Amino acid sequence: MAKKKNGNNDGQVYCSFCGNPAHGQEVFVPSADGSAYICENCIATMDEAIRGFKESNGMPVARKKNNSGDDMKKVPKPKEIFEFLNSYVIGQESAKRYLSVAVYNHYKRLAQNTDDDVDIEKSNIIMVGPTGTGKTLLAKTIARLLDVPFTIVDATVLTEAGYVGEDIESLLTRLLQAADYDVDKAQRGIVFIDEIDKIARKGDNPSITRDVSGEGVQQGLLKLLEGSIVNVPPQGGRKHPEQRMIPVDTKNILFICGGAFDGIERKIAQRLNSHVVGYSNKARKGIDRDNFLQYVAPQDLKSFGLIPEIIGRLPILTHLEPLDRDALRRVLTEPKNAIVRQYKKLFKMDGVELVFTPEALDLIVDKAIEYKLGARGLRSIVESIMMDAMFEIPSGKMKKFEVTADYALKKLEEANFEVNNQ
Ligand code: ADP
Repeated sequence: MAKKKNGNNDGQVYCSFCGNPAHGQEVFVPSADGSAYICENCIATMDEAIRGFKESNGMPVARKKNNSGDDMKKVPKPKEIFEFLNSYVIGQESAKRYLSVAVYNHYKRLAQNTDDDVDIEKSNIIMVGPTGTGKTLLAKTIARLLDVPFTIVDATVLTEAGYVGEDIESLLTRLLQAADYDVDKAQRGIVFIDEIDKIARKGDNPSITRDVSGEGVQQGLLKLLEGSIVNVPPQGGRKHPEQRMIPVDTKNILFICGGAFDGIERKIAQRLNSHVVGYSNKARKGIDRDNFLQYVAPQDLKSFGLIPEIIGRLPILTHLEPLDRDALRRVLTEPKNAIVRQYKKLFKMDGVELVFTPEALDLIVDKAIEYKLGARGLRSIVESIMMDAMFEIPSGKMKKFEVTADYALKKLEEANFEVNNQ
């Protein structure tokens, strides 16, 4: 409920809807008899709510005019987005290209001239790839470039209303929080939904193995992906009849979904095998059997258990490659905030130059591969190696510190890294 302070009984004027003071607001409109007021935020929210209601009921909506030309000038071009991603994310060319185009088109959509009948549709994205290959990093980096509110939610915590867990609307609560409760900003933000594969239905045939909660969450999510006005509890948690809800229009929110989809390669292989039967051996030979993920198609997501409606709302499907030895080695040193750069910075703040020998870096990569830790493991390995030095060096007089392969191995053994990661 809004605070009841609507007039000017303490000398201040308050919005009768949200209770915020007039102070600092450009637009503050009194009612005809001056007994009530409305602030610009509430006007904007109501305008969106009216538009949304009219649109979903097929009523004509007065379109907003906008200066699409000016808006687009500020938006980086796909190649610029790609380059930016390159400075933070190693490899993953295909995903980077798809993301760059999708994000650029998303902004075109926001800036589109709305006085004709052509409506550029939303291009939500789904990224399929093994864990720790850069899905979250890509989404975070995009958000950093575009300076829009961004939030990451884990699909596994979402449940249908009435079950234990978080309501689906709660993911918009986080976006609102990221936008400092500026509804307009939040409505242009990006939501990254991680582990989307975990809400897959457990079988291809819904009538035989029906996994109610997974499918229910997908149905709930669908509403958000489609674009609708959703009542969001500002503090999150369960919907409470007394909690004041904030209507948020999801029409222009970009949803990026990611998932490892463990085992989807088998479904891709099955499809490709049955597809090439009857064709020449050449078609079969052209397939790279070491990496089926690159052929992922919407029907594989359906076989995995995503409902067709969800797949339809995620029209951009791209994949991430597993990181090989060479890529892991580059992850250590090349990205703008590479792990090695971060440690160098830490040491520099104590006036110490930190150097890793090439052999030490190779060893770190070998250990990450040996223990199947992937890119995520690199940090914990470096952390174990550097712990003692970080403890000792700030109190010493050393000006340069070199990490050799022997030193790294000794520290890993001392830290029982091998035992802990068997
Ligand atoms: P996921 O694919 O599971 O979302 P993340 O993006 O969270 O993986 O990756 C975990 C960490 O591993 C990142 O924070 C980053 O440090 C590192 N990493 C993973 N993939 C890459 C990559 N392609 N380039 C650079 N760093 C990466």
